[in-house]
Amino acid sequence: MEALLILFDKKRYEAWQKLRKYILLRDGYICHYCRMQMTSMCTVDHIIPRSRGGRSDKKNLIACCLPCNRAKSDTDYFDYFDYKLKRAA
Ligand SMILES: [Zn+2]
Repeated sequence: MEALLILFDKKRYEAWQKLRKYILLRDGYICHYCRMQMTSMCTVDHIIPRSRGGRSDKKNLIACCLPCNRAKSDTDYFDYFDYKLKRAA
């Protein structure tokens, strides 16, 4: 539903694409969670999920691969790191 709304709002969509590209370039296309160099499936993730009031600004966004983004979903940033660490141990 939200994706549809963004598509209808061209200016907002373009601003988001620009911000998304900025975050990916800033982070060198390296996934924040698994440190993988992304060549495809590049996404950006909200450190504080939008569902918990996180904003879509530079301070709250990080480059993230699609598998990590899907796995994290709206999990809290630190909870997700704990989860990753426990899985790696
Ligand atoms: Zn990742």
